[in-house]
Amino acid sequence: MSSRAADVIPAADRRSPDRPTPDLATQDLATPDLATSDLPAARTARRGAAAVLLDGVLKRFGTVTALEETRLRVEQGEFLTLLGPSGCGKTTLLNLMAGFLEADAGEILIGGEQVTATPPYERQIGIVFQNYALFPHMSVARNVGYGLRMRGVPKREIAARVEETLALVKLQGFADRSPRQLSGGQQQRVALARALVIRPRVLLLDEPFSALDKNLRGAMQVELKEIQRRLGVTTVFVTHDQGEALSLSDRIVVMSAGRIRQVGTPDEVYRHPQDRFVAGDVNTLPARLETLSGVRATVALGDLRREVEAAALRDRPPGSPVDVFVRPDHLGVRPAGEGGTLPARVAALVYQGSHIDLHADLATGERVVVRVPGQGALATHAPGTAIGLAVPQGGLVAFPPE
Ligand code: ATP
Repeated sequence: MSSRAADVIPAADRRSPDRPTPDLATQDLATPDLATSDLPAARTARRGAAAVLLDGVLKRFGTVTALEETRLRVEQGEFLTLLGPSGCGKTTLLNLMAGFLEADAGEILIGGEQVTATPPYERQIGIVFQNYALFPHMSVARNVGYGLRMRGVPKREIAARVEETLALVKLQGFADRSPRQLSGGQQQRVALARALVIRPRVLLLDEPFSALDKNLRGAMQVELKEIQRRLGVTTVFVTHDQGEALSLSDRIVVMSAGRIRQVGTPDEVYRHPQDRFVAGDVNTLPARLETLSGVRATVALGDLRREVEAAALRDRPPGSPVDVFVRPDHLGVRPAGEGGTLPARVAALVYQGSHIDLHADLATGERVVVRVPGQGALATHAPGTAIGLAVPQGGLVAFPPE
């Protein structure tokens, strides 16, 4: 598939540095230059091709397998996030796409074109790093135009494209400043402009906002999402922050220990995690499996009966212990003894501004956290108070104990 697609794309077109990508070419843009149409032959050749395809890609560093044999398809125009803890292989995967690392096995295709052995600068990829990596001795405009100069784009065109890209990241009027005269957020916008100005086939971002403070990070996330949507540029974003992944992504790839654990929309990953790792750090309530029927299972939590997804419990006999996963915002606090609740006692209240995290101990000994909106809980649930813990009827998942 790869070589067929690549064969019908003229080599000159494949390498042309200022060729707009199919993504950028089809968008409704305020900046008309970025919307210039692609060559029809190239577009036809790539129809149906993934923006990026990793086929059996594997990477080892000595005895460490940083990425186990992996197959991953990134669709044209999507915002895909690699999510996982430190050391799980996110950056390795990104660097393999970028061409900074060579795979030990497997193939990498970009837009249907085989690039496994193609050097980074010929992959037509834009990259933004956590530490901005701007050239300190160059002005903002020269930083942004760097990739175009390297590709031999005529001066006049560079000036126009730099200007329109600075406008895109809201940095008009900053062209002559040095990076030292910019805030962290502004520097990261320059880095984003530098990546976008080459009209990349794929935009790769490695924890781009982690050096920014929380408020600025939120604002930059919204801006990035707007720009990405406007340009329709295929984006692969790396983060260890679940909230960031949920709010930005079309799909999330959850990784751990060099392996993809689940690929899905934010809602699939959040509400239907396939295993304990993807479910993450939430409350676990001890329960017993009662019945399995099709896609649903019934579990007993003390005197309560609840339905959960059966997939992860299929090989378990009735009566086996299971852990029910429930998020703090799904649990509720009721008066002690109310029917349909689990007996518990308040252990601590942690003020979080818009809500209170109420820590409670179940009669069975487990500690749970309940997110109580508003501040009423401070007055009514002092530590030591007996409460009834309300467990939702739906939206629960359960896994075998570790
Ligand atoms: P972080 O969020 O901390 O950047 P990550 O998920 O991006 O982590 P990687 O940087 O991809 O993780 O690393 C995956 C594994 O490969 C880790 O065990 C790491 O120590 C190892 N590793 C990465 N680069 C190298 C290298 N150049 N030499 C040896 N081992 C490496």
